[in-house]
Amino acid sequence: MKTHILGYPRIGSKRELKHACEKYWSGRISKDELLEEGRKIRESNWRAQLDAGLDFSPVNDFSFYDQVLDMIVMIGAVPGRYQEIIDKDSKAPGLDVYFAMARGKQENGIDIPAMEMTKWFDTNYHYIVPEFVQDQKFQLNAEKILSELEETKKLGVNPKPVIIGPVSMLLLGKEKENDFDKFELLSELLPVYRKLIHKLRENGIEWIQVDEPYLVTDLSEEEKEAYRSSYSELTKELDGIKLMLTTYFDDVSKNIDLVSSLPSHGLHIDLSRAPDQLDVILGKWPKEKCLSLGVVNGRNIWKNNIENSLALIKNASGQWDDDKLFIATSCSLLHVPYDLRLEKKLSSEIRDWLSFAQQKLQEVVFLKQAFLDPGKVQEELDANKTSIQSRLESKVLHQPKVRDRVAKLTSDDYKRGSEFAIRKKLQKEMLGLPMFPTTTIGSFPQTKEVRKWRSRFKRNKVSVEEYEKFILEETKQAIRKQENIGLDVLVHGEFERNDMVEYFGEQLDGFTFTRYAWVQSYGSRCVKPPIIFGDISRPKPMTVDWTTKAQNMTDRPVKGMLTGPVTILQWSFVRDDQPRSETATQIALAIRDEVSDLESAGVKIIQVDEPALREGLPLSKENRKQYLDWAIDCFRLATSSVKDETQIHTHMCYSEFNDIIEHIALMDADVITIECSRSQMELLDAFIQFRYPNDIGPGVYDIHSPRVPSIKEVTVLLEKALEVLAPDQLWVNPDCGLKTRKWEETEKSLLAMVDAANEVRNRGSV
Ligand code: GLN
Ligand code: ZN
Repeated sequence: MKTHILGYPRIGSKRELKHACEKYWSGRISKDELLEEGRKIRESNWRAQLDAGLDFSPVNDFSFYDQVLDMIVMIGAVPGRYQEIIDKDSKAPGLDVYFAMARGKQENGIDIPAMEMTKWFDTNYHYIVPEFVQDQKFQLNAEKILSELEETKKLGVNPKPVIIGPVSMLLLGKEKENDFDKFELLSELLPVYRKLIHKLRENGIEWIQVDEPYLVTDLSEEEKEAYRSSYSELTKELDGIKLMLTTYFDDVSKNIDLVSSLPSHGLHIDLSRAPDQLDVILGKWPKEKCLSLGVVNGRNIWKNNIENSLALIKNASGQWDDDKLFIATSCSLLHVPYDLRLEKKLSSEIRDWLSFAQQKLQEVVFLKQAFLDPGKVQEELDANKTSIQSRLESKVLHQPKVRDRVAKLTSDDYKRGSEFAIRKKLQKEMLGLPMFPTTTIGSFPQTKEVRKWRSRFKRNKVSVEEYEKFILEETKQAIRKQENIGLDVLVHGEFERNDMVEYFGEQLDGFTFTRYAWVQSYGSRCVKPPIIFGDISRPKPMTVDWTTKAQNMTDRPVKGMLTGPVTILQWSFVRDDQPRSETATQIALAIRDEVSDLESAGVKIIQVDEPALREGLPLSKENRKQYLDWAIDCFRLATSSVKDETQIHTHMCYSEFNDIIEHIALMDADVITIECSRSQMELLDAFIQFRYPNDIGPGVYDIHSPRVPSIKEVTVLLEKALEVLAPDQLWVNPDCGLKTRKWEETEKSLLAMVDAANEVRNRGSV
């Protein structure tokens, strides 16, 4: 029996990689210094794995920005627009081209937009979307993976290179030209994979982890055929080297006949997410092949229930040759924080229930020991049982009042007073906004200054009064700037907030927080998800004070700004002792109270952000309806207490929404602002088939890049939107919040946006 993990966090236990990247981007450190920081992180990750006693360690799970972007470079699929910045003398694109693909580049007359970014399956991690064209060429650039392999040799690590398989690689990407099918590119792509396998074989590799996460989805015949033809082509190169087909985030059993027919040597399955698949897999997966059991949850931070995991392992072992079994994490540990030992301030009761990446390494190794020789580790086994039991029985989990309120909900609690058409009229009279109203999504630049003040405040270095005076001044300036730019609906700017989920979690009961438990969200951006351990309630109003203060500074309407229940759920580590829907309903009630309090305080527009709604969508179609039903119910529960005159907005981003647009309409928000500029408004295609009933602001410029759009660009996008949307339906706004941007580019971009809105307004009147 062997142990392995599918990947390790790479941002550094103190976010060293984030800091180094950001310094490099702003010219404060050299390329060599950045490369050295990356090397140090890899070394420390591998050492942790060696110390834990893992049999195999992943290689190429490290990335300076994103593992899909690394693969794009590895297969030579750099889009044509970056050619002008590729150094003609070097074969492979260098680090600067790599970062330009991720972030765009606008300097010295060069102006190249970034590649699109979207969510990695149902996680809050974002990957760079591969772009394919009809005459796409591929070419192997294996330097990264090979040099990382070299590093493992010095450390004595047993390396298992990790790559994304060819079919998933195509499925992750997008055709950038019409009238061709990306699967036509397989014949071009597979030789590159063969060359790669050849190189790895030359390096004495035994196992390659080939991630094919799409194997858990509902595959079309064409996709299945792509799997068959690809893998039969790849086997020609194997000659002793073994492929571990790796799946996660859902159940692969629906495709097990296909998977069993592929010539691989091993299959990894996610038993944390889908334990029920084990029996089907044991029945159908060929007995002479290896099976990797993902029993340690890579998506959550709860201590492993060793008894449950051992039961799964024993079940497998009863029908399998132990030599051919692997014990593993369910997926890459990318999605969990580094090390629980850093959290000195957590309550000891809660701490005892948790396990981060470092601890999960030990759990994987412990499971093997406990399976082989339980007598030797009886004490640890008993301790695990006690700890698991203590959480389920703990008093801090249960609030009868909350449960009672949930039990008494009726269908009226999920409905606005009148239908949208009536509300729209009343809101129009009340707000008096022009055609194509302009607004932003909520946050304004979180400058160094703002972050410094907040961190000093958190460390009790400044008083509440001083801190609040500072925030108030920032808010006032943001309001003035918005007035000067000419925006119609203003926001207070969110200067008092660190993070859109943490800010609310900190004020709600049932949550706890960590100090260093950062998880990568995209590139150098990390989030520190709160931990939901118990029933949730809101002791007192959370945002009323700042919102009303901002409203008192201006005659224009200021939107109240809240995070929605599904997003709070999705971006937290959620208790696993009750269904997620139940936890979401409790959060929805807390937000509902906040919405009501904002309204009572005179706030006329309230935005409830749900950027994470789409990412929670189950990968298998059969589970989707159930999820959407409760997710949308929770949004409606949170927002339906208000009068018809009060305008509810929502915002969504980072995903593609075309496939759930009808459900989004069921949320019945009066206005939705939604990301789509990076994809050139592909979202709008959905409205050809489906007439979106309420108001909508498709984002007109990309806020993930410092690039300033031209008036023309924005005008063109607005015109494109008007081809499928009614003029009195269209709002004008950026793609997302502006917290990661600088003021300079923000003001310029918003001015261009307002000018474009004016231009379209004026055209409309002639
Ligand atoms: N209101 C939030 C902001 O502007 C929304 C962020 C998001 O959608 N991710 O920052
Ligand atoms: Zn957003």
